[in-house]
Amino acid sequence: MPNYYLWTIGCQMNKAESERLASLFAETGYQLAADVKQADIIVVNTCVVRQNAEDRAVHKLQNFKPLKKARPEIIIAVTGCWVDSNVDRLKANFPYVDYFFKAGECPPWVDREKWSQALPQKPPPAAYVPIIQGCNNFCAYCVVPYRRGREKSRPLSEIVCEVTELARRGTKEVTLLGQNVDSYGHDLPEKPDLADLLTELNGIDGLCRIRFLTNHPKDMSRRLIETVARLDKVCKNITLPAQAGSNEILKAMRRGYTIEDYKKLVSDIRDKIPDVGLVSDIIVGFPTETEAQFQQTVDLLTELRFDTVHLAAYSPRPGTIAAREMPDDVAEDEKKRRLKTLETLQEKILTEINSNLKGKIVEILVEGKQKGKWFGRTGTDKLVFFNDNVNYTGKLVNLKIDSTSPWSLQGTIEN
Ligand code: SAH
Ligand code: SF4
Repeated sequence: MPNYYLWTIGCQMNKAESERLASLFAETGYQLAADVKQADIIVVNTCVVRQNAEDRAVHKLQNFKPLKKARPEIIIAVTGCWVDSNVDRLKANFPYVDYFFKAGECPPWVDREKWSQALPQKPPPAAYVPIIQGCNNFCAYCVVPYRRGREKSRPLSEIVCEVTELARRGTKEVTLLGQNVDSYGHDLPEKPDLADLLTELNGIDGLCRIRFLTNHPKDMSRRLIETVARLDKVCKNITLPAQAGSNEILKAMRRGYTIEDYKKLVSDIRDKIPDVGLVSDIIVGFPTETEAQFQQTVDLLTELRFDTVHLAAYSPRPGTIAAREMPDDVAEDEKKRRLKTLETLQEKILTEINSNLKGKIVEILVEGKQKGKWFGRTGTDKLVFFNDNVNYTGKLVNLKIDSTSPWSLQGTIEN
């Protein structure tokens, strides 16, 4: 049997695309190689959102060069956001690569129809479902729109069919994916929106949980908030990246909202959806960010107390508006210091938030075992571990929380 090897870095969209690739390999009789040296085909799924992700992907690819030299019959393919429109240049620089195909595009060796209908082979308890590709926003720092193109929504009926089939095969939770899920549907003839899609999916038998990300603060509608509050299967968990706490920086980032708009939105969400789990992304050291402006980000995190914050140091990305127009003028050491400050602050906040869960009963969907313990997530996306002799994978169980840390909770099954 032929073997495939798949290496993935980056966002959930990349993970979803790799899951689809894996299932197409399995369908055509390929097995996952135990070691890359045994692979007949190698796929590298890349990310360029920050320099270090790009470096890791390119380094990985370079590692495969000697393999190709030793066994020229191996096929090496590269996808993800590193693949830009200038494939000829990539081919010239990496002549040992057989195929380059852009993020989200059909692999050249796969039938287009098959690609669009591919589902995970053995559907996991929790699966990703892309609903909109690309982005129309052009935030100044971001390379995504240049690599994934403009927004393109999948038809609502196609998504409903896919999720129905996943649920029929045993998937309990789906996470709907898009760079900006709030603009879902505007490009479709009937103009459905995310609230319509959630309402349809909520009616699917066997499906227990629906998540979605990422929301854009300038586009998230009050109707969506009400829909999330109303629908029982939709997790009370919202990913809403703020990116910065200063209005000047938000403007330079071209985010399209003020910090006052953002806080009002969070307050509306918390009014309508009590106990919602809120997730945010923050960039430190964007060009021109002063200490005082950074302090406004510190104040934002202190005031809003997010349940998860993804922190990143600004990394200039060739071709973006910021890289073209703004010198990267915050020193690397200073970016590191700002990151560390926020990490320490967030750790303290999460210690407090999570310790309030001690003694409480939470419901989790068991996803499997990690380091000898069963694990799953609450509707608000808290990671919980527990010990038990029974395999509860794919089941919703109630746990009593015994102990907490900033990053996870420990519990015992509650009958
Ligand atoms: N569409 C989503 C996420 C896009 S990329 C959104 O609008 O939020 C994921 C995260 O990577 C972003 O939220 C941002 O915080 C971070 N990011 C993107 N470009 C970056 C850059 N050039 N430097 C540092 N972080 C960046
Ligand atoms: Fe990038 Fe902004 Fe689009 Fe998100 S909304 S993908 S940060 S351009």
